[in-house]
Amino acid sequence: TRHEATILVLGDFNEYAAQRLAGEFKTKRIARGDAALVEAEWAQDVRGIASMWEVNAKLIDTLPNLEIIGNFGVGYDAVDVKHASANNVMVTNTPDVLTEEVADTAIGLLIDTVRELSKSQIYLREGRWQKEGAYPLSKLSLRGRKVGIFGLGRIGKAVARRIDAFGLPIAYHNRRKAADVSYAYYPSLLELAEAVDTLILVAPGGAETANAVNTQVLKALGPDGVLINIGRGTLVDETALADALKSGTIAAAGLDVFANEPNVPQVLLDAPNTALLPHIASASHKTRQAMADLVIDNLISWFDTGKALTPVPETAHITSK
Ligand code: NDP
Repeated sequence: TRHEATILVLGDFNEYAAQRLAGEFKTKRIARGDAALVEAEWAQDVRGIASMWEVNAKLIDTLPNLEIIGNFGVGYDAVDVKHASANNVMVTNTPDVLTEEVADTAIGLLIDTVRELSKSQIYLREGRWQKEGAYPLSKLSLRGRKVGIFGLGRIGKAVARRIDAFGLPIAYHNRRKAADVSYAYYPSLLELAEAVDTLILVAPGGAETANAVNTQVLKALGPDGVLINIGRGTLVDETALADALKSGTIAAAGLDVFANEPNVPQVLLDAPNTALLPHIASASHKTRQAMADLVIDNLISWFDTGKALTPVPETAHITSK
């Protein structure tokens, strides 16, 4: 291999990434980010982690020479970044390279939720078009909707550009007003939900945003309300959402992410007004390869030059040991 450092790979990992990584570094692989799976004879060799999954404090503490965690994904809520930072461990993510793909998927999910594309396709495949005639008219339409975006960052802006092309007004909520857009800003998620009937979630997970979409927000969205979640499952109180869908508090939901993946609450599966995807927003060969390359290019840059290409903000100050 070209580099001396050993990289620990956790659990299921992109095949292309695993192969390229093995050509560049020495690698170790364990089934998941569980400190109990680290063996004493190689623990001190590990200087980097490459992972799509949880990296907790205990695992970080088990690897005395750990310098960098390369997170496969732009969202890094599964990495204990506070603990990494406190221990001078760099964390990198994969921004930008997945932005347009994820925005495409968000739009696909929105239209599927509102116009029932998946459900009508099942109707056709079950032979019901021939037996029962035309598929029932969809109760909902994208026409006339007002769209709110929770998390107008890289992906949120790419979603907004697409919505803008559809001729629909856009509003958003972030902690801070974004300088480079003229969409209507709301200083709270509740006020945003009151102002729109279609809410698209693209904010990060983690403690700060946990259950941000609660009963109150769903009520504010209203009976024509459509909720789309492409951000993280933890953003939504799933029990409150299931109740809101059942009682007609909102009209429909399209979800790519869930609080406890791959487990999807039965009430959401049973609900007639949900469109559900198995966390596929960035999941094309093309985009996953670009993400893989960025994970590995970060590791190479770190060990060659002492600088990461795309550090997360919390560890951007950390320099090579
Ligand atoms: P960015 O960091 O560019 O955007 C995040 C946005 O959320 C920012 O505008 C930020 O604004 C806002 N935000 C962050 N925290 C809060 C908060 N507590 N309250 C309100 N707003 C907040 O990230 P990306 O656009 O690149 O990615 C966004 C998220 O999308 C990722 O974190 C990930 O969870 C998810 N994602 C999901 C995928 C999937 O497969 N479904 C694929 C890729 C990403 P401000 O700082 O002003 O608050």
